[in-house]
Amino acid sequence: MSKVKVRIAPSPTGDPHVGTAYIALFNAAFAKSQGGEFILRIEDTDQVRSTRASEEAILKSLRWLGLEWDQGPDVGGPHGPYRQSERGDIYRGYADLLIEKGHAFHCFCTSDRLDRLRREQKLNSQPPGYDGLCSGLSATEVADRHAKGEASVIRMHVPREGTCNVPDMLRDPIAIDWKQVDMQVLLKSDGMPSYHLANVVDDHLMEITHVIRGEEWISSTPKHILLYQYFEWDAPTFCHLPLLRNADKSKLSKRKNPTSIDYYQRIGILPEALMNYLGMMGWTMPNGEEKFTLQEMIDNFDITRISLGGPVFDVAKLSWLNGRYIRESLDNQQFGQRLQEWAFNSDYISQFLPMVQDRVELLSDVAPLAAFFFAGMPDVSAEDFANNRIDQPTMSKLLQLVLWKLETERNWDKEHVMADVKAVGDHMGLKLKDMLAPIFVAITGSPRSVSVLDAMVVLGPDLTRGRLRHALNVVGAPSKKQQKELEKEFQQIAAFLD
Ligand code: GLU
Repeated sequence: MSKVKVRIAPSPTGDPHVGTAYIALFNAAFAKSQGGEFILRIEDTDQVRSTRASEEAILKSLRWLGLEWDQGPDVGGPHGPYRQSERGDIYRGYADLLIEKGHAFHCFCTSDRLDRLRREQKLNSQPPGYDGLCSGLSATEVADRHAKGEASVIRMHVPREGTCNVPDMLRDPIAIDWKQVDMQVLLKSDGMPSYHLANVVDDHLMEITHVIRGEEWISSTPKHILLYQYFEWDAPTFCHLPLLRNADKSKLSKRKNPTSIDYYQRIGILPEALMNYLGMMGWTMPNGEEKFTLQEMIDNFDITRISLGGPVFDVAKLSWLNGRYIRESLDNQQFGQRLQEWAFNSDYISQFLPMVQDRVELLSDVAPLAAFFFAGMPDVSAEDFANNRIDQPTMSKLLQLVLWKLETERNWDKEHVMADVKAVGDHMGLKLKDMLAPIFVAITGSPRSVSVLDAMVVLGPDLTRGRLRHALNVVGAPSKKQQKELEKEFQQIAAFLD
């Protein structure tokens, strides 16, 4: 049997997500338990949303957690490059091959036509999808239209009848009717591949034996199976892991739970505790012990023992486990060292000391004033936010809009954070001083402190957003219906700023 090779393939479009770490952990545990290899590949074909900063942050967070990969963009390997944006020519060749074999076709439909089609399908309660208009064009017609300068994409043929049975290590085959599967675009008009083409080609070229990924990809797998058949390649074994859930069993989302790995680092979760906790998501040690190391997980790993009931990512349980690590696994000296690495170090402290120096008389005034720089969520109640200039609905709207604005901010410095906050204030017709009052309480836990914008810069995006989210819960977040309306308003602010 060939050597086991697995991969994670994150798209660098945002903050490092705990879901990525969870999938990475299970891939790494499987690879190591089988004497196999673990590869990291960056899927950055979405050039608008992908950024190098996000890629770096993802790699850094995974390393912080103690994960190592045998091949990847930063460590190299025999199948590089490991960034899809650098593999463009490879995909084009394979898309052409499918055209030659008659498994794919050029499609000239404009986005206007596709929009119209989608609207009609919606109106007639039909599933959305391409209707095959261009699938029968002859080679001469295609050449003529290209000669006239018409742009085209390449789509795959998909049977309209029958069923695809998706094999899965954790389930009976999953039956999906081909009718439900869209004639997927493989190569976009700018020559970039879609996720599906790049993913299959790379998994093949990188000799991936097992694709272990989240359940949300099950509906894409028929397309992938078909592509393997078209290319006459052996398909890897598929394993779709259950998605992490919020306490109410909905898909883990940052509306209800912080999802960024960096947030957990900033509130003082130890990396080994977070890894251990992620290992408990759908999996248990044979002896039932909840506290275990990565090596113990590897030594006992049996992928078929993963249970499919949606595992709940429960921050309180994670904190409890973290407490066990602090009390049971660190001696005094190690504890001190961890604290220093975390925030009790001059690099971090020197970032806010200048702000504090102007505001104290005694050295002993410093700790109370600066305590919030070392805290997780401040202990605030609705009364702390009571403010005679801004009523509750306005405050809730304000905090929500500021939070959304800051969630999209990629340049975390004073100038940008200030511009974001001001844009919301201007939009709502609020004076800067008035609107900053609730933000002060949300971030510092008190109505007066050091400059709140400077504090937000030092605290960083994850803690800042976490505290705004926490404040919203305390003050009362806008209802679902209000949020829908607010989203429209938010688009206006976003458009105004960009
Ligand atoms: N780029 C996809 C993601 O962001 C990879 C999915 C897969 O593993 O096939 O999760």
